[in-house]
Amino acid sequence: MIPQETTQRILDTARVEDVVGDFVSLRRRGADLWGCCPFHNEKTPSFHVEPAKGRYYCFGCHKGGSAVGFIMEHERLSYADALRYLARKYHIEIQEKEETAEDLARRQRSESLLLVSEYASKFFQEQLGTPEGRSVGLAYFHSRGLTDETIAKYGLGWAPTGRTSFTTKAIEAGYKGEYLLETGLCAESEPDHEIKDRFYERVVFPIHSLSGRVIAFGARTLKSKVEGKPYAKYVNSKESEIYVKKKSLYGIWFAKSEIAKKDKCYLVEGYLDVLSMHQLGICNVVASSGTALTEGQIALIKRFTDNVTIMYDGDSAGIHAALRGIDMFLKEGMNVKVVLIPDGDDPDSYSRKHTLAEVEEFLQSSEVDFVDFKASLLLQGSEGDPLARANAINDIADTVALIPDSVKRSVYMEFLSNKLRIGIDALESRVSTTRSKAAMSRPRPQEPVPGEVGSLAPDINPPIGEAAPAVQLTGLDAMEEDRVMGQAERDLLNFILTNGTEVLEFQRDSEFFVDSEEDRQTVFDFISQALEEDATTFANSVYRKVFDEYSNLYYEGYEQDQIVKRLMDGEDRQVAFVADTLSTDERYDLSIKGLRESMMNKGSWLTKYVPKAVLVFQSCRLENKRLEIASRLSEAEGKGAVEELKGICIEMMEVQKMIKAVKVKLGREKN
Ligand code: ZN
Repeated sequence: MIPQETTQRILDTARVEDVVGDFVSLRRRGADLWGCCPFHNEKTPSFHVEPAKGRYYCFGCHKGGSAVGFIMEHERLSYADALRYLARKYHIEIQEKEETAEDLARRQRSESLLLVSEYASKFFQEQLGTPEGRSVGLAYFHSRGLTDETIAKYGLGWAPTGRTSFTTKAIEAGYKGEYLLETGLCAESEPDHEIKDRFYERVVFPIHSLSGRVIAFGARTLKSKVEGKPYAKYVNSKESEIYVKKKSLYGIWFAKSEIAKKDKCYLVEGYLDVLSMHQLGICNVVASSGTALTEGQIALIKRFTDNVTIMYDGDSAGIHAALRGIDMFLKEGMNVKVVLIPDGDDPDSYSRKHTLAEVEEFLQSSEVDFVDFKASLLLQGSEGDPLARANAINDIADTVALIPDSVKRSVYMEFLSNKLRIGIDALESRVSTTRSKAAMSRPRPQEPVPGEVGSLAPDINPPIGEAAPAVQLTGLDAMEEDRVMGQAERDLLNFILTNGTEVLEFQRDSEFFVDSEEDRQTVFDFISQALEEDATTFANSVYRKVFDEYSNLYYEGYEQDQIVKRLMDGEDRQVAFVADTLSTDERYDLSIKGLRESMMNKGSWLTKYVPKAVLVFQSCRLENKRLEIASRLSEAEGKGAVEELKGICIEMMEVQKMIKAVKVKLGREKN
């Protein structure tokens, strides 16, 4: 555990521009820095770092936060590990407090799983030296052309025939059954709950993480059948705390530096494809073994290059997989090429039959752009069939429509137009229709109305009592916002987190006008006083926490930016997330055009909309109250409790009167 004082020292020392700058190349523009966002694919910089506020924010994907948040998100570290990372970077010594048993257990759990995997990997390697391992496992690897050097480097092994060989050894060596099961190295057998080996009588391929630790295994049987029963050719580790299939790629540890150096990645299908190509000397090769290609795997490749070549068998399954891969890579903004291996070969067998120079020459000469690949494939034999030809062209245009970059898209349309001898207008119209269809089916962020602020404007606020429109705040959804209160609470917090310490200068004709300068309230004062007068607070527990923590720091005398940074730096990541999301002034920025048109400055904008936000909040709260009374009313009616009914009716009338009063103030109803 890191002591509180050290934590604060680390957070105060870390400069967001240094920390982000280690991963993103930033250009200075005025006081701030800009770069291409590391969290989403883009060609024009919308990633913004503000050194003065100690924060970053992406206008494209809306990710933001402080230095510690950046490290957590980018390096996938826990809060404590992100602090340790920053401490190392700034040479701050951490005298760790003694961990509680629980902390220790949690931290040690992943490490234990990794140690078990490492032990298993050694065990399987050693088994290659036993008589059985040599005659079956090693003989198999040799028959596939793998050298002893390759076998050792990639940690290939043999899982022996006995059903408990590994389990017995591992338990003798002191590894807990719990971890053996969790890593999927062992399984509980059905009736007797005995722990047995999951991998037996198979050759074993360890799967390494990006940092080179063994996280899982793929195991291949050398039999085609057992007693006439079908038999899974491959058995893979199950998912665990250390192994997330859809974010792992076989060979990435050995390939990553070469992928970065060559600025290109080859994607193949199987373990042996990777091994044979690497052995031959082409090392920028990985495989999506064990699963169909996923977005997580693409993101992993994208950390090292934007250029990928899919290298699959030329059979129909290979072609089908390649077509699917093309669309997925394009969607992520990557450049895709395809190589199909001819004549019934796969990358493994092909690279064993040829020299390095021959394979390199083949890859270079036969790799085709995805458009060429699709066109030659789909247009085959459609010459005399106009309908088939039209369908094929539409299909290709739909793939082009997936490319996020508009310049690239139009270059491809031109290329297609020439190649297929079809008018560019027709292609453009197909592509733009497809794109707008795709955009329609995506959830859209709520669009601000110029000059108005989100839901505060009466005319775009939904009728009270109806659910507020869902604003795109990924992550907030998980916090179970109140159906009625959610939007109103968020609006209040948004004002506090963007302009909380700003003084409200009401005009003389306003009901809130005060003469003496001392009595003037800040945005935070105004809102917290309104809450106090209503004897209420936020219904959402995370919002309440943000409000309370803001309030503490505010009264301690911190300035706005410091308060927000402290909230974003905190260990409660839900609080940090809300602070980050609601402290970005985007809504205000977006409505600047409208403000200019209405000649409104920020000060008068605040004096107009902060009181309005409070009224909307009050009316939502009253509406909640009305709903609660209504349900009591119908309950009492059911029971026929006359006296009780009278009391509830009076309450109801009072609430309705208050609702009406608030609505009048909001200008929604006439007096
Ligand atoms: Zn982004």
